[in-house]
Amino acid sequence: MTKLMKYQDAVKQFDPVLGLEVHVELGTKTKMFDAAPNVFGGEPNTNITEVSLGLPGSLPVVNHTAVEYAIKIGLALNCQIAQHCRFARKNYFYPDLAKAYQTSQSDEPIAFDGYLDVELEDGEIFRVQIERAHMEEDAGKNTHVGGADGRIQGADYSLVDYNRAGVPLVEIVTRPIEGAGERAPEVAARYVQTLRDIFRALDVSEARMERGNVRADVNVSLRESPDAPLGTRTETKNVNSFRAIEKAVRYEISRQAARLSSGERVIQETRHYHAEDGTTSAGREKSDAEDYRYFPEPDLVPVAPPRQWVEQLREGLPELPAVRRRRLREEWGFTEMEMRDVVSADAVDLIEETVAEGTTPAAARKWWMGSLSRTAKEADVELSELAVTPKQLAQLQALVDDGSLNDKLARQALEGVLAGEGSPAEVVQKRGLKVVSDDGALIEAVEQAMDANPDVVEKIRGGKMAAVGALIGPVMKATRGQADAGRVRELIMERI
Ligand code: ADP
Ligand code: MG
Repeated sequence: MTKLMKYQDAVKQFDPVLGLEVHVELGTKTKMFDAAPNVFGGEPNTNITEVSLGLPGSLPVVNHTAVEYAIKIGLALNCQIAQHCRFARKNYFYPDLAKAYQTSQSDEPIAFDGYLDVELEDGEIFRVQIERAHMEEDAGKNTHVGGADGRIQGADYSLVDYNRAGVPLVEIVTRPIEGAGERAPEVAARYVQTLRDIFRALDVSEARMERGNVRADVNVSLRESPDAPLGTRTETKNVNSFRAIEKAVRYEISRQAARLSSGERVIQETRHYHAEDGTTSAGREKSDAEDYRYFPEPDLVPVAPPRQWVEQLREGLPELPAVRRRRLREEWGFTEMEMRDVVSADAVDLIEETVAEGTTPAAARKWWMGSLSRTAKEADVELSELAVTPKQLAQLQALVDDGSLNDKLARQALEGVLAGEGSPAEVVQKRGLKVVSDDGALIEAVEQAMDANPDVVEKIRGGKMAAVGALIGPVMKATRGQADAGRVRELIMERI
């Protein structure tokens, strides 16, 4: 059993340091160095050329749009843009890369020395220093068949799909992130979220975490105190949701603290994250001097972006997430607190899309931050992973607004949508969820309730209007919650 120290004790005793390596797949039409289409999915090994496979004699050519996107990312992260930079071969042997090297950048990244300001839940701004952002190509995808949870160990055979080989990536590497203290998990998750928002704002990637468009490697180390030298780090690979990032950091802090406090060393290694229980387990040992035998790529000319072009790109940068949030907060009339909650629930885009479908900001917020947030939390998923779209939510709210549904019925209809029963209108039909406003059925229930509660009727006659509630209750019950409460009240008053 892995020993863990209680998180609160761990961060009292030790100072956590983070390092984040984020890969983003660029949404270019073609791959980084060849004309094969860059599309998600597709039959295995169809979106490839000789270059994707690195066949002998094939030659790469740099994708101009990928360079443009990389520069935009660098600029948005307040980086210097290299006057001149080269690609390098990073040698390793693995079936997902047929060339046996990845074309990447090592000591000459396109962008370097930047920072990103990250807003935390309490409104504090935390600055993360960026070491570099460099261009590289993605590898193909191995599928190991027959072993436990898709690992190569114990597998009977492996399949390789090269469709993803050569897809353009930008990797953004932070400097060691110090000073986050007990908020290290939050800083890590909000940093990646802010990056994701920037990729979307720049329109350089769809940046969908669940598709692996954005992937984070999370380095964590502990030290006795903030002025001690850096401790030994572990690198948890490919963590692909904000919740997972938060949990992976938390878990590593608790695990490393338990080891250190019992006199054991932390082993420098890569680790795997397990979404089922929020734990990590050992991967391969990895030393700093890992020998990839980087050397300059002889088949590609250096990239030397003209200054004038870089300045044009800088001027053309769109509204970045921090500014957008401020604008939307004002447009929507949310308080600072409400907006921060919306941001940390990752509901900004969802609310924006719901509002675009005709719902008021307040109603959109109520749905996403209310029952849907609870549902997501219970299911341990992100809001965007729930089986309801902004459009469906807007349709649901429209049914509330036109009086077809009351709040209670609307929640039932939403349950149906989440359960895959169809659009709100379809669920309403299938489940028979209409508000009863045809008077015939209502009058009967109203009169029964009045007959059964003569004392309440007396009170109302005597001027105690608040007592009406005691009659509405039984009417609702008799109509299984489908009565329009306003109409019931009117019918009671008419009879009194
Ligand atoms: P690797 O090649 O092992 O992935 P990189 O330099 O690409 O190494 O990335 C390592 C990441 O970890 C960087 O973000 C770096 O700032 C960070 N880092 C380095 N040392 C430590 C440490 N002791 N504790 C936490 N993070 C660290
Ligand atoms: Mg790395």
